[in-house]
Amino acid sequence: MTAPYDALRAHFRNVALLGSTSALLAWDQETYLPRGGGDRRAAQLALLATLAHERATAPQVGDWLARCEADAAALVDDDARANVRGWRRDYDRATRLPAALVAELAEVESKAQQAWAEARARDDFRRFQPWLLRMIGLQQHKADCLRLPAQSRWDALADLCEPGMNAADLAQWFGPLRQRLVALRERLAGGRAVDDGFSRVAIPEADQEAFVRAVLAAMGFDPKFGRLDRSAHPFCTKVGDDVRLTTRFHRDRVLDALGSTMHEGGHGLYEQGLDMAQFGAPLGEAVSLGVHESQSRLWENHVGRSAAFWEWCWPIAQRHLGSACQGYDAAAIHRAANVVRPSLIRVEADEATYDLHVMVRFEIEQRLLDGSLPVDALPSEWNRLYREYLGVVPPDDRQGCLQDVHWSCGLFGYFPTYTLGNLYAAQFAAAAERALGGLAPMFARGDFAPLREWLRRHVHRHGRRHEPAELCRLVTGSALSPEPFLRHLDRKLGAVYGLA
Ligand code: ZN
Repeated sequence: MTAPYDALRAHFRNVALLGSTSALLAWDQETYLPRGGGDRRAAQLALLATLAHERATAPQVGDWLARCEADAAALVDDDARANVRGWRRDYDRATRLPAALVAELAEVESKAQQAWAEARARDDFRRFQPWLLRMIGLQQHKADCLRLPAQSRWDALADLCEPGMNAADLAQWFGPLRQRLVALRERLAGGRAVDDGFSRVAIPEADQEAFVRAVLAAMGFDPKFGRLDRSAHPFCTKVGDDVRLTTRFHRDRVLDALGSTMHEGGHGLYEQGLDMAQFGAPLGEAVSLGVHESQSRLWENHVGRSAAFWEWCWPIAQRHLGSACQGYDAAAIHRAANVVRPSLIRVEADEATYDLHVMVRFEIEQRLLDGSLPVDALPSEWNRLYREYLGVVPPDDRQGCLQDVHWSCGLFGYFPTYTLGNLYAAQFAAAAERALGGLAPMFARGDFAPLREWLRRHVHRHGRRHEPAELCRLVTGSALSPEPFLRHLDRKLGAVYGLA
């Protein structure tokens, strides 16, 4: 019985072509689009989203799926069965969303994102407020269409990002995790002072760019199927077969440019590691945002913030950054890259405080969606929670509730996948360490291929074959747990602060 399956393959290849065309337009919007092109771009994205939704929800898809499911044994192999399961999940979701809502969301996402960028540049929350209000209304409508009985709005949206994730489970993890992260921070405060002067040395952007490109190449990011550009907020997106990364440069923050590039490079390696022959099918797609984030955080933190990495990287840094490196050595830069200090900006946070930023957003977002937090109270509530969780208070909304793009582009239920990514990353890194027999000597000689290929084989190539929780058990031998992450922080940061 290959006919309905083949029809599904061909049909969804076309849906994916529409989706990847949207991805290209969205990438352009974030990188090169002149400001005057914004309105028409929003209309273009809305039209493509409508066309993709129409095709993905076409009645014949339901017929083909039913025929495949009626005789699953006749499908050619496990790959086909896994694809049918994935399409079924997507189809049941998509058919619950009215076409008009999909079109309106696409247009408002594009316009709200532009309004957010302006509001942020001018530090003017009131300018963004009506768009956020409208976006929350649309997300509530979307969640009401999607949610099952007894499922909250937040859970319905979160399940789109991370299949199986819900607020109750997360709250159970986040409580103890927060306590232990705060305890770790207090312990480190009693350690030696760590000099992070190198993070603030002024270095020409062209030198920084040459440096981060050298590291990205060593990671194995394939330039034949990818490129690196600049944007205000680094991101990674797949456009058909090629992967677009962006990073950013500030004259006096070379470690930020490196971290952003390795982070997006990790996302890019995941996308390049997916099976291209499965384009348009679930086996050719990333399993979840949490697992996606694990790949970026693994390269950014477990590789890029390790002592062994800096042994290899220091001569490369010296070659590209020249006199800026004078007075430092590999060990000093490794310490500078691991300074723990509560701060205002999530994407610049150290490993020990990063998840506290996520917890603030997790709490606020649930209340925005269930209506218990009015939009105009967002800035003050944000600042209150920053004081409570991190002990710092944003001096303005630009560094407060306007810092992240997510809510403007409709990404609700998304933030906790960052913390899940940290937990998966630590657990995957520990499993790779066991399987490959010690990663540090490889990193110290710049040999990242064994780790990259191990991730490709055990994580990337599966696409959406398994649910994230099942994938974690298969890759690591156990269910997801915060323990490997906390062990990793204790060991590394204890050494950096002279407490090990
Ligand atoms: Zn990321």
